[in-house]
Amino acid sequence: MLMLANLIDGQARAPREGRYLDIVDPSIGRTFARCPDSDATDVADAVDAATRAAPGWAATPAETRARCLYRLADLIETRLEAFAAAESQDSGKPLALARSLDIPRAIANLRFFAAAIGQWPGESHAMEQGAINYTLRLPLGVVGCISPWNLPLYLFTWKVAPALAAGNTVVSKPSEITPYTAWLLGTLVAEADFPPGVFNIVHGTGPAVGEAIVMHDTVKAISFTGSTRTGVAIAKAAAPKLKKVSLELGGKNPTIVFDDADLSDASMATIVRSGFANQGEICLCGSRLLVQRGIYERFRDDYLRRVRALRVGDPASPNSDLGALVSRAHFDKVIACIERARDEGGRILTGGQRATVEGRCAEGWFVEPTVIEGLPPGAATNQEEIFGPVVTLIPFEDEAEALAIANGTPYGLSASVWTQDLSRAHRVAARLDVGIVWVNCWMLRDLRTPFGGSKQSGVGREGGVEALRFFTEARNVCISHGQ
Ligand code: NAD
Repeated sequence: MLMLANLIDGQARAPREGRYLDIVDPSIGRTFARCPDSDATDVADAVDAATRAAPGWAATPAETRARCLYRLADLIETRLEAFAAAESQDSGKPLALARSLDIPRAIANLRFFAAAIGQWPGESHAMEQGAINYTLRLPLGVVGCISPWNLPLYLFTWKVAPALAAGNTVVSKPSEITPYTAWLLGTLVAEADFPPGVFNIVHGTGPAVGEAIVMHDTVKAISFTGSTRTGVAIAKAAAPKLKKVSLELGGKNPTIVFDDADLSDASMATIVRSGFANQGEICLCGSRLLVQRGIYERFRDDYLRRVRALRVGDPASPNSDLGALVSRAHFDKVIACIERARDEGGRILTGGQRATVEGRCAEGWFVEPTVIEGLPPGAATNQEEIFGPVVTLIPFEDEAEALAIANGTPYGLSASVWTQDLSRAHRVAARLDVGIVWVNCWMLRDLRTPFGGSKQSGVGREGGVEALRFFTEARNVCISHGQ
């Protein structure tokens, strides 16, 4: 059995209490590894190591810090196939997706922030009264990074890379459901020349490890991606300590198709992908598909034909478009959401149940791509995040109604708008209460842009300069030089 370890003070360490969690391959329903079930004592060890390492790392030239990140990226790249296989086995996602999206993006995150830290312009403000201000951006010290299971290495590196580039030392916690690739990355940290204690990884559950990171007095900031419920708990715990928090949370994103949209094969393929990529387990997936009434039936029939053509199967097979859901618990949740949609009066147009996969994966947790219509926008199915391969179709009359439906949930992460009317695209983008709008595309990501959501989808922004700002303290220096 593969035994994972924590990375504390540059060393692979077993959890102090010696407890482990089973790590399950969801495509076969069997345990393949054990991961430390660490607790607050392991977190305290990691924070102590990070505290000792902090002054040295903060004083290390940015160029040297960047070189460590570049080396780590190169080391992952030379092992891309092993990382992709690990990510697929751990999460159930198609190997082809891990190979083309998750791991390349993790590498890109490390390289992006390695480059960004050397390109970050300073700020200065001259005053007519004969003074000049300049702003120092100083590392915070020890920071906590907590990430979810859906894009494990992708989101883990999206946090640790800017934190380290900006000169902080890190205590990080990947999801206990998918810890495999973060552990693999941890085995390369010393080879990438990070000094001991700069980059620590503590495995374990949210309540035991995540909470201990959030509550530790020495940890100055928490960058968190995960569910809204956990985000609220973290905000509450961090508030009395006045910690900086960045919260990237859930979504119930609308895809809005106007009657003038270009519905070519390429566009339709993207619209289908926006609902079902990674089994719908991407915070940015469009789970509500709003379609203008005039084209509703024609669009629906074409869309259903394409969704029915999606192949659910062994994640290792190049023929699988969708793999398994991440865990038994999540599978049960998604199936229960589909049942609730039925109870609410929704018509299941395709899918709606467990997908049967023959052979090796017969015991895996697969769900058929599911499309539902006939539910009002206020139904629970159209309000609450399902985070699975489930899309609801909602007709609308005009722009005003589309906006009212799109904005009519507690979430505000992203939206994708399909129209060929340029004025409408700008108008709608300005009125959608979300952090990210795509027009005639989906999940086209430029790492320099602000990333995050409004309302219950989060607080703060990641990406580019936003992430570097989050992971630093601004200090203004005002120098009078006389008139
Ligand atoms: P989750 O909130 O259950 O867990 C996320 C992480 O937080 C895990 O590492 C978990 O162990 C930890 N955690 C749990 N309880 C904690 C606590 N009390 N204190 C500190 N840490 C704690 O989320 P999940 O199920 O892993 O991920 C799915 C959710 O993440 C979905 O809601 C999805 O929309 C969201 N998500 C958001 C984004 C985004 O960028 N906005 C990206 C990906 C996923």
